[in-house]
Amino acid sequence: MREVDVKDITQAVRDMCIDANYELSSDMKKALCDAQGKEESDLGKKIFSQLQENLKIAEEDKIPICQDTGMAVFFIKIGQDVHFVGGNLTDAVNEGVRQGYTQGYLRKSVVGDPLIRKNTGDNTPAVVHYDIVPGDKVQITCAPKGFGSENMSRVFMLKPADGEEGVKDAIVQAVKDAGPNACPPMVVGVGVGGTFEKCAEMAKEALTRPVGHHSDIEYVKNMEEEVLSRINKLGIGPAGLGGRITALAVNINTYATHIAGLPVAINICCHVNRHVTRVI
Ligand code: SF4
Repeated sequence: MREVDVKDITQAVRDMCIDANYELSSDMKKALCDAQGKEESDLGKKIFSQLQENLKIAEEDKIPICQDTGMAVFFIKIGQDVHFVGGNLTDAVNEGVRQGYTQGYLRKSVVGDPLIRKNTGDNTPAVVHYDIVPGDKVQITCAPKGFGSENMSRVFMLKPADGEEGVKDAIVQAVKDAGPNACPPMVVGVGVGGTFEKCAEMAKEALTRPVGHHSDIEYVKNMEEEVLSRINKLGIGPAGLGGRITALAVNINTYATHIAGLPVAINICCHVNRHVTRVI
């Protein structure tokens, strides 16, 4: 059994909230750079240049890439041989969010109740997904999520007979409906299978897969490529002002499901697809 002090979790979470908001991960930077070369519209090319300049300024001046610094979402994989000491794990994560968003001068975007809507003032609470895995490490992925694109996400409870074509059509429809509201070029996270809530969680986690890495399952990889190609023929383009590159990637995660259903969740992320991972 390995002991992990929750103070180390707080420190890591603090740093990750700031890092994720000041600088995109290398996969996203490369994807944006590659996409600029593929864009055919003059206006689209210009927008890519502005996005690159914005990234450079944020990185150099240590300021957020976007004014919407997101709701702090975490995927925490806990080795089953880890014993946390020094306090409550979820409290430690929230303390890290509090410190990161306050000390990093990140916008506080969270209201404590969905209808009363009073801002909590420190961007807490976070949304945390825990998973127990073999080993004695703790892997934390921090993925602050902006709501321009979150609001464009969808869940479809398809029928089994809808099959692969139904899933592909649902993804393309969700992106088409999102249009410019999701701040394209987007990354499209998809969860297929499981239950109503499982497919949504898979879609969210799919956004944290590095852009350019495909599913290990051959037919799923083919779907990712085909759907991306269909999306990039919609003409929405960078910033929704027309062009070839509407999405940078389609990442699909799958899971077993019930004989009577085919749940599909589409979680859309904007070009500020923030994700940072640390292992403690
Ligand atoms: S959707 Fe993304 S780019 Fe648009 S405002 Fe929100 S965080 Fe910023």
